[in-house]
Amino acid sequence: MPCFGVHESISGGHDKAVHAAADHGFGCVQIFSKNSSRWKAPPLSEEECRKFQQALADRKIIQPLIHDSYLINLGSGKEDLRQKSAAAFAEEIERAAMLGIPQIVMHPGSPTGDDSDRAEENGLKRIAASFDAVFGQIGTQAENAAADILVLLETTAGQGTNLGWRFEHLARIIELSANPHRFGVCIDTCHITAAGYSLQTEKDYDKTFAEFDRIIGLERLKAFHLNDSVKGCGSRIDRHAHIGHGTLGLEPFRLLVNDPRFAGLPMYLETPKGTDADNADWDIVNLRTLKDMLR
Ligand SMILES: [Zn+2]
Ligand SMILES: [Zn+2]
Repeated sequence: MPCFGVHESISGGHDKAVHAAADHGFGCVQIFSKNSSRWKAPPLSEEECRKFQQALADRKIIQPLIHDSYLINLGSGKEDLRQKSAAAFAEEIERAAMLGIPQIVMHPGSPTGDDSDRAEENGLKRIAASFDAVFGQIGTQAENAAADILVLLETTAGQGTNLGWRFEHLARIIELSANPHRFGVCIDTCHITAAGYSLQTEKDYDKTFAEFDRIIGLERLKAFHLNDSVKGCGSRIDRHAHIGHGTLGLEPFRLLVNDPRFAGLPMYLETPKGTDADNADWDIVNLRTLKDMLR
């Protein structure tokens, strides 16, 4: 059985996210390491990190995952934004190491400010080069926890000029990097649908994962974001829906949660917060929907 998790807010302290996930019945948690729409954050205190680790242990929450800030764009054609992004990403890695979180999921970026007809390839090259600069800065000493953090490239919906919506984009970044061992991949079910990879029938599902395996390799797959999609396959619009309430419906999730290849992987919900028409908490409703489909 996969480990079901959820994205939770760190407002009031990083440990609050762990308690919220546990209170809702989840086994793992995803957080932002800081306010996701600001560049600057106060440094993490040792006390904050200790409380976070204690909450994980007390509530038996495993596989904590950091989602990087939305401001970060390692693919930008604008030098200043790219430099600022690389510095912010290095800081995300340092924060992950301090919190004892082994993996960071991130959106690869987009070639903003690059209107050449090679913008896509240039963007992928800049992303790989930015990662290598960050890894170089962090260092590779064995005693340095930051050196062991795995970066999970997330499949994106391909909205606007965002890269990462083709499996080939992620494979290319890994191939271009001098540090391929530092990368894994996170599949977002809403995003790959929006990007045009169908999971609708068992045949589509098998075809999509065979393609992923051929282009990236299933051994790179380390996590899932489970979201239904408001918009249809190939729409390239990123809008998350509750499980079974979007264009995916239940069948793709039934196949996923019962797929023995993914039995040990964490699967995090990033569905909208709030309550349904019966005043039930959507996180609890979505978790029950997923668990009810387990065979
Ligand atoms: Zn996602
Ligand atoms: Zn999304």
